[in-house]
Amino acid sequence: MCSQLVKRPSAHPEGRTVECVEYIGSYFDDLGIPSEVHEMSEGKPNIVAHVGGGSDRTIMWVGHLDVVPVGKPENWTYPPYGGEVADGRVWGRGSSDMKGSDASAMVAARVLNEIEPPHNVDFWFTSDEEIGGGAGARWLAEERIFQGEVAIIGDGGGCTPGQVSVGVGNKGGTGTRLVARGKTAHGSTPHLGDNAIDKLLRVIPYVRRIGEYRLELPSELEGIVKSSVELLLKDPGLSESQRQMVSRLYDYPSGPSLNVLNGGEKSNVVPDYAEAVFDIRLTPGCDPLKVKGRIEELVAEAAVPGVSVEVRASPTAGYYERADSSAVTQFAEAVRAVTGEEPSLTIAPWGTDAVSIKRFMRTEEAPDGIPAIIFGPMVESQLHQQDEYVPIENLVTAAKVYACFPFFYA
Ligand SMILES: [Zn+2]
Repeated sequence: MCSQLVKRPSAHPEGRTVECVEYIGSYFDDLGIPSEVHEMSEGKPNIVAHVGGGSDRTIMWVGHLDVVPVGKPENWTYPPYGGEVADGRVWGRGSSDMKGSDASAMVAARVLNEIEPPHNVDFWFTSDEEIGGGAGARWLAEERIFQGEVAIIGDGGGCTPGQVSVGVGNKGGTGTRLVARGKTAHGSTPHLGDNAIDKLLRVIPYVRRIGEYRLELPSELEGIVKSSVELLLKDPGLSESQRQMVSRLYDYPSGPSLNVLNGGEKSNVVPDYAEAVFDIRLTPGCDPLKVKGRIEELVAEAAVPGVSVEVRASPTAGYYERADSSAVTQFAEAVRAVTGEEPSLTIAPWGTDAVSIKRFMRTEEAPDGIPAIIFGPMVESQLHQQDEYVPIENLVTAAKVYACFPFFYA
């Protein structure tokens, strides 16, 4: 089933989910499980399947169907949309992020439908996650089409034997854009111009210093931060410098990763415009507005005229659940029952649809948003990479955990 989903491309920029939704819809039709399609943007439908249970409470399982582009297909060992099954793995774009998880959820839905779970379980397959959820989870949450008291986000790892874990939060980001303006001139007379690229290059090292700004985190997060780092350090492929970066990943703003650089049009024209866009990720519980203030200070320290900075930051970054909350302890019990391992609790370094759920699904019982747990068959190092794969063993483990959780949820 994972392979079938991989064979139905849903990559951005189109992010088309029609073929995947049709496949999932006919699967549920064949099983007699009711499903509905909700579409805000043409070509990007979402689908939900309802498995009825023995209480009036609803567990939401949420996963996305869209994937990131493949880069150069000829660089892949197996064709990116082939869904090849080899070496105990399913290969292809989206296998790990996160069509494998979607397939596991489909199996769990079938099993639960046969035995009637103690609570209702809605299985949501959404579009648009990779670009912020506008036609997917964000819309479904904001419009209150999503319904439920607890959310399982399939967009994660946790199944790998020896490294079993449960995601109890995810990081947030601050988009930071530097813009340099100068004055154009002929390239032969640079003294008559004011080179925007030169100005930008002088400020970039100052922005990078935000990576040395220690975040203030709530003490209740200490254990989770420690176990998140320990889990990432179990990757045997990391070099010594990568290990050092990992060990700072939660206590400091990540990176900053300079991901876009634009400027200049012609080799004989002094550029009057240049921009740099950084990706800076922040651990939940820190104060993003303080980080924003520090970035602005650093740019001011650079004292290069004509260079401005724009930092997008909200009062909170990402989200986290307390380690002792009932949703976390009950989910961890389900994982322990399936895997026989004590799961470590982690904060996912990437963003997930949980953020929309926390923001819009607020109730009297859960004023900060309903609990959201991240767990799935994903292999974290595979995200958005060439030769993406998911181990079949992980798919089976995730399906079991999704099917078991309703029996531990109270
Ligand atoms: Zn994902």
